[in-house]
Amino acid sequence: MKIDFLGCSGGIEGSTPVGKSLNDYARTTCYRLNGHVLIDAGTGAGRMGMSEMVRIEHILLTHAHLDHIACLPLMIDTIAGLRKTPTCAWGLPGVLNVLRTHILNDAVWPDFTAIPSPEHPFLTLNEYPASGRLEVEGLKVELLSATHGIPACGLLVRDGDHSVAFSGDSGPDPTFWASAAAAPDLTAVVVECSYPNREAELARISKHMHVDEVVRLSAILPRHVSLVIVHRKPGREREIQAQLNAALHDRRMEFPVSGDSIDFPL
Ligand SMILES: [Zn+2]
Ligand SMILES: [Zn+2]
Repeated sequence: MKIDFLGCSGGIEGSTPVGKSLNDYARTTCYRLNGHVLIDAGTGAGRMGMSEMVRIEHILLTHAHLDHIACLPLMIDTIAGLRKTPTCAWGLPGVLNVLRTHILNDAVWPDFTAIPSPEHPFLTLNEYPASGRLEVEGLKVELLSATHGIPACGLLVRDGDHSVAFSGDSGPDPTFWASAAAAPDLTAVVVECSYPNREAELARISKHMHVDEVVRLSAILPRHVSLVIVHRKPGREREIQAQLNAALHDRRMEFPVSGDSIDFPL
């Protein structure tokens, strides 16, 4: 599975890595899987050209925080009329309700689920099946637990003979880690680590992860499973990376910045 980390920052600013422009870097959560499926549609979605946006068939939403949906309404507007079928967004009922009530409400943004007509809209909002399982573009998707103070989920995505788990935004959630560890073909966990250890209290209040929690909870994973660290808050990137490198010697870790792509399995 090829994952393009179109956006994987915890904000829209950042300490620009050597060789990267700020434009390359400071974009929020949007991962593209094998070219046709998005996980979330934060400002990273704005990295795509129009022809790339047209090819997106499904958008799997983890939750409705703005850094994960900001570009969804703008993207649908950009490609309006260019697709023969609607772009399908998937979410928990509470997530879709936020989109309907607060975003696509004909006040903040037009309701593209009824434009140009309710029968043939540019966008459909689909509840994840009650089974917690669906298949999109050949990818088998399973909902995982997340703890973020609002309706939120993680995802396990299986492509052929390997799977990758995504934490979404979540504070410490042992159920997520146990489920991921139980997947026999798990190759990597894409996990948010928003804060360094000095901001553990802020992480707790905001229901995000900090370094020591990632170290503690990831211990349940088999040794060969890699960690991909995302959603680092702007200005803390190097500190978080240094703390994780110091604490986890026997686990492969990747620290992508927005615009990077990774082919799994590593
Ligand atoms: Zn969030
Ligand atoms: Zn977020």
